[in-house]
Amino acid sequence: MDNLIQEIPEVHEIAHISGEQLAQIDSCDMTCEIWLQLAARVNELLMSNKVDGIVITHGTDTLEETAYFLNLVTKSQKPVVLVGAMRPVTAMSADGPMNLYNAVTLAANDKAIGKGVLVALNDTVNCSREVTKTNTMLQDSFQAPDLGYLGYIQGGIPYFYRLPARRHTICSEFITKGVTELPKVEIIYGYVDSSSIMAEVAVKTGARGIVYAGLGNGNMSQSIKEGLINLEKQGIVIVRSSRVSSGIVTRNGAVNDDKHHFVVSDTLSPQKSRILLMLALLTTNDPVEIQRIFWEY
Ligand code: ASP
Repeated sequence: MDNLIQEIPEVHEIAHISGEQLAQIDSCDMTCEIWLQLAARVNELLMSNKVDGIVITHGTDTLEETAYFLNLVTKSQKPVVLVGAMRPVTAMSADGPMNLYNAVTLAANDKAIGKGVLVALNDTVNCSREVTKTNTMLQDSFQAPDLGYLGYIQGGIPYFYRLPARRHTICSEFITKGVTELPKVEIIYGYVDSSSIMAEVAVKTGARGIVYAGLGNGNMSQSIKEGLINLEKQGIVIVRSSRVSSGIVTRNGAVNDDKHHFVVSDTLSPQKSRILLMLALLTTNDPVEIQRIFWEY
């Protein structure tokens, strides 16, 4: 961590920085256990009056998930910014140093206060709820294709143009203090001729919730529908999300959610729906209450 900071001495003109390492992993190996440790440490640091903001360096593959998780469980208005790099440090034109500089700029700026956990890459500021990795290699991979950036960072100054509309951080009802494990939720993907077998296996191995990454508007074949209805009757919470990258999954469209006690994901991607469902399941498995949560976060 200190090596990273040393590479960009310019950050010392913006803020007093100290670094620490909570984990050194490929972000593909991120776990719920590490998330809980990270949330605890972030909340602890943010309570200190010596800390005005936090920057978290993170691999890009699961960065959006960690950002959204922290957005829901961080109990402070102080800026928390996640940053990564699309190019390796050894690349001819690495983007890591500039991204880190921008992230520090953002975390140190009063304009970032109260805006939830933010993501800063490629001179842009994104809302953790909406940002996603859209390209496997390009530098402008991190986007919110549906709803757009919150703003830009230019010449060391953040410029905001819109605000996150959904509940986050101090307005969030989710508390992970003292929680040592999150309820198990698995994602099942929809495709031609798919069956509910994967969902059934997930439940047999302990899943309390299933996020269905459905076709179109979260739609499903008769075969999957029958399987999911059956699982719901056993007390498993079913969230209909979509494999389509933008748009609302609407309630009671082609699927009668009221009748089958399904929950719709609104605009949340399957991977972010899973996070919200895990947190919701800490306190309830009532599909009506969980639907309320999906409309609010
Ligand atoms: N697989 C890497 C990770 O997400 C990619 C990266 O470093 O951005 O940790």
